[in-house]
Amino acid sequence: MKLYNSATHKKEDFIPHEPGKVSMYTCGPTVYHFAHIGNLRSYLMEDVLEKFLRYDGYDVKRVMNITDVGHLASDADTGEDKMVKGAKREHKSVMEIAQFYTDAFFADCKKLNIKYPDVVQPATGMIDDYIKVITKLLDTGYAYVAGGNVYFDTSKLEKYYVFNDHDEEDLAVGVREGVEEDTNKRNKNDFVLWFTKSKFEDQALKWDSPWGVGYPGWHIECSCISMKYNGEYLDIHCGGIDNAFPHHTNEIAQSEAYLGHPWCKYWMHIHHLNTNSGKMSKSKGEFLTVSLLEEKGYDPLVYRFFCLQSHYRKSLVFSWENLDNAKAAYDKLVARVAGLSDGGEVDQAAFERYKAAFIESVGNDLNTSLGITALYDVLKADVNDATKRALIDSFDQVLGLDLLAKAAALQEKAAAPVEGAEEIEALIAKRLEAKKAKDWAAADAIRDQLKAMGVEIKDSKEGTTWTRV
Ligand code: AMP
Ligand code: ZN
Repeated sequence: MKLYNSATHKKEDFIPHEPGKVSMYTCGPTVYHFAHIGNLRSYLMEDVLEKFLRYDGYDVKRVMNITDVGHLASDADTGEDKMVKGAKREHKSVMEIAQFYTDAFFADCKKLNIKYPDVVQPATGMIDDYIKVITKLLDTGYAYVAGGNVYFDTSKLEKYYVFNDHDEEDLAVGVREGVEEDTNKRNKNDFVLWFTKSKFEDQALKWDSPWGVGYPGWHIECSCISMKYNGEYLDIHCGGIDNAFPHHTNEIAQSEAYLGHPWCKYWMHIHHLNTNSGKMSKSKGEFLTVSLLEEKGYDPLVYRFFCLQSHYRKSLVFSWENLDNAKAAYDKLVARVAGLSDGGEVDQAAFERYKAAFIESVGNDLNTSLGITALYDVLKADVNDATKRALIDSFDQVLGLDLLAKAAALQEKAAAPVEGAEEIEALIAKRLEAKKAKDWAAADAIRDQLKAMGVEIKDSKEGTTWTRV
């Protein structure tokens, strides 16, 4: 496949370190609150990438961290730890908050058909690894102790910025909040590997270390978790665009300084989901969650469909109107699939031809909207329904839209006997008799009776039809 690599600023042929195998790392959620649907756009597109690679024949190992310590309110090492903030808000312990929101996150993922990663590692479970890596960075001169904290010295690197072709607006997310100057830092981009002299006396989780009791910085967790489970060479690292700087930039700095060789080859960054009023935020306005979508009557897979309709390297604007358009298109698609007949022989040659076209489309830097077009092409194609169903089933291994299952549910609903239909039909027949006998009062009384039952009738030349309202 071809993948845009943020590290080289080019679309490249994807060639994994080990033939046939892909090591993949995705920055997991900071579990101090529910994920908003913006966060989930990132996980959803990463899920499609993982599924596509599997579909294309690779053996994929996907690792994800759970940030349950060390992510401060600002990505630039200032402000309060987000977990402590969450615990205070809800009068619970940090571990209770972490467990609750980790479960909530995976429940949302399940509803969106996002596969559970092969490895999920909470940051608090890896303290010994952070200490090992930080110790080596200190020994080799890449880190220093100042004011009680351990910092990474970015001046020791030949090149620190790697993703500097990003929009200023996106980069600003990382630096914007770094207003509080830390005078311990030798260079403005240096970052904390280990906090001992915490500004926050109430930091809930602390561990012993060679530099005193404290807790790890946010960036070190991803480097260590990835190296532990995916080894010294990582094929693809993913995350939202706001993670490119400083988070991923710092991950590269410390991992390569530690390893002494290049670490991750391909960097995939998903651009943001925004609202009309700008960046999506957990603290601002209506907090858009999967549960809110459900409360408003949307199937979470409508949101998945909405995301797949656009490219991951473009920001996407969320509005209820846009979601309604996606819902109408998704419902129509399901209805078309439901209209396909069962049985028959699959035309293998046609199957392979359409499958190749789908791989070609999606394999071009994960062009999911062209993948959906390939699906419509199948529905329009001059092949039998068995072949169409087989292709839809096949493409859906990547798209994850549950099309055959939703279509079966729709068929079942249409075939189910409507409760009370006999009684309604009988009343309509009685009304017809009354009308024939010109007994208008009786006919109107029956219409009112039906209305009271929640049934509306419509007379036409062809007869009377009814619907429930
Ligand atoms: P967090 O839980 O804040 O660590 O973020 C989880 C993931 O969501 C990260 O990969 C972020 O880069 C990503 N993310 C944050 N906001 C958005 C957004 N509005 N749209 C898409 N991805 C986002
Ligand atoms: Zn990360």
